Amino acid sequence: MSHGPARKTLQAGVTRNDRLMSDGRTIRYYDTEVIPRTAQDQRPQEDQPEIGELRLDSLLNEWVAMAPHRQSRIFLPPKELCPLCPTVGDLLTEVPERTYNVVVFDNRSPSLRPPDQDWVLPKLLGPSTATATAAGKCEVVCFTQEHGKSFADLSPAQVRTVLEAWRDRTSELSQLPYIEHIFPFENRGEEIGVTLAHPHGQIYAYSFLPPRVARMLEAARNHKELTGRVLYDDVVAREINEKVRIVAQNQHWIAFVPFASRYPFEIHVAPRTAVADLSELSLEACDAFPEIALEVLKRLDGVFAIPMAYIAAWHQAPIREDRDLLRLHWQITSVRRAPGKLKYLAGSESAMGAFIMDMYPEQSAQQLRNVVLGK
Ligand SMILES: [Zn+2]
Repeated sequence: MSHGPARKTLQAGVTRNDRLMSDGRTIRYYDTEVIPRTAQDQRPQEDQPEIGELRLDSLLNEWVAMAPHRQSRIFLPPKELCPLCPTVGDLLTEVPERTYNVVVFDNRSPSLRPPDQDWVLPKLLGPSTATATAAGKCEVVCFTQEHGKSFADLSPAQVRTVLEAWRDRTSELSQLPYIEHIFPFENRGEEIGVTLAHPHGQIYAYSFLPPRVARMLEAARNHKELTGRVLYDDVVAREINEKVRIVAQNQHWIAFVPFASRYPFEIHVAPRTAVADLSELSLEACDAFPEIALEVLKRLDGVFAIPMAYIAAWHQAPIREDRDLLRLHWQITSVRRAPGKLKYLAGSESAMGAFIMDMYPEQSAQQLRNVVLGK
């Protein structure tokens, strides 16, 4: 891992500058102009929280991360105490500089932490499976210094810088020997438990395959065996062929409501040239992403003319296992069914994992297409 000041040149005119925070964490500034990043973190030195545990839910063979130290984390502070705004005067925040474009820093109360050097994931042995330390890495991505904005308000150039930061983190975190899967995501809206109003996302780098990835791999392996083809490629081909669920498209990307969507509003944004993860996107695909990303989020906000609560999740192939079987796509799900109405995961969804949808995906695709986009 890099320590201290370091500079790295990325695509789209973005450079990255690393700085150490006073508790030893790293903050990375992603800039499109040459800006010296020399501000010191003036906060007193602080011990980092203890590492939690990975326990096996042996009924499902799924790992659950225990992070009791997160109980005390800050919950919806007033705007003037926002820890993700730049530092102004003596209001010392997570970002020591007075201005920034995009920053990525190590999470202050991470669910997953870098482990000791000899760390390995225990073998699955039912209830006698050993408990491991919660190895991994959690990072925070601030999309802009402007507190009141959301991702959909960013300019195309700002989205391009965020994409470059996601790509850079994906390649670098992929090098860590204990990381198996990298998940950049954004939770937006208090309805889904967002604790900070500042526009930001997170990156979870897992030391195990998350259950949904494991399930998708299983389906992809079966499909490969049956047809010789990659499942997600066939899914995209079907959407292009049937057209009815397409919401937006350009030369390099396609956005559609999936055939068996589980949420009132669910959109997949996929590159037309399939790749395993963000780091493998072509320059052309990267440059064409801001346009479709902003269109999709504006359509989502336009459906009921209110900002939609959503989860925007980057699905990437695992770093080591069957990398050629899963494909990069951006999945946006919203629990809002109507103004004032949310979909809750109740008995069938929570206990059985069997989703019930109140509307056809074709209807929600139509609603998204009907939104008239302003300038
Ligand atoms: Zn803020």
